Amino acid sequence: MKIDCHNHSLFSPDSSRTPEEGAEKAREDGIKYLAFTEHMDLGFPNDARPEGEFVFNYMITGEYFERVRRINAAFPDFEVCAGVEVGYTPEDVGEICDKLGALPFGYIVNSVHICHGLDCYWKKFWDGYSREKAYREYLDCVRESLDAPYRYDAVGHLGYIGRPSPFERKTLLYSDFPEELDDILRTVIAKGKILEANSSVGGCAAEGTLCLPDISIFARYYELGGRKVNFGSDSHRSERTGYNYPSVAAALKDLGFTHWTIVRGGKEYKEVID
Ligand SMILES: [Zn+2]
Ligand SMILES: [Zn+2]
Repeated sequence: MKIDCHNHSLFSPDSSRTPEEGAEKAREDGIKYLAFTEHMDLGFPNDARPEGEFVFNYMITGEYFERVRRINAAFPDFEVCAGVEVGYTPEDVGEICDKLGALPFGYIVNSVHICHGLDCYWKKFWDGYSREKAYREYLDCVRESLDAPYRYDAVGHLGYIGRPSPFERKTLLYSDFPEELDDILRTVIAKGKILEANSSVGGCAAEGTLCLPDISIFARYYELGGRKVNFGSDSHRSERTGYNYPSVAAALKDLGFTHWTIVRGGKEYKEVID
């Protein structure tokens, strides 16, 4: 089954396409399961943002669920899930718990966008940081996010820091931090979470990187016994929905993965990778 488990629409501050438009594009591409994962970045440092950067508001309302319900009613052979992408910030876990409990999210991705109080897309983030120091700190944040007290189903875009990295070698490889990555992967497995393969790789694309985390990290995950994977394009525009699905699916199958793990109404289901 062709799937795409990470997409944004106008219920996220950095996307303006409608959920209906995203669903139409996915159906045209033969995708059978599409999850919208709108942003919930409650600790986003809007005060520190550079001039001209959009304000990262939380924009999810009851209307989001109603529009997804209507898409599902209109297309019985196609499924859309109303999910959320939580941006982990330790100071905000109480409010995250409250907001997650207030609405019926079908699927929850836990992501790290902010480290040392800044977004790594901002130049200021990298001031005074070596590659080693910045990447290590990012991995510390990811490791901490795995122990978040709220419900989440999947770990989003592990290796995100590589997308805007100013360093010559951007992609986070398994060989860069084997100890730290082993700890993260073993924890993902022990907690029964899904490791997302995110095909939005930013600057890592020039290095031939197919997804985040890099395939070298998926290889180790498989070796350690990890089997729960899914695919997400992280699309904010319709032309990016399903981006690079065939290559990512083929690379994961080569490693031995046979099934996607998708989530409906908070419950996991397996679908053959094809
Ligand atoms: Zn994200
Ligand atoms: Zn996203």
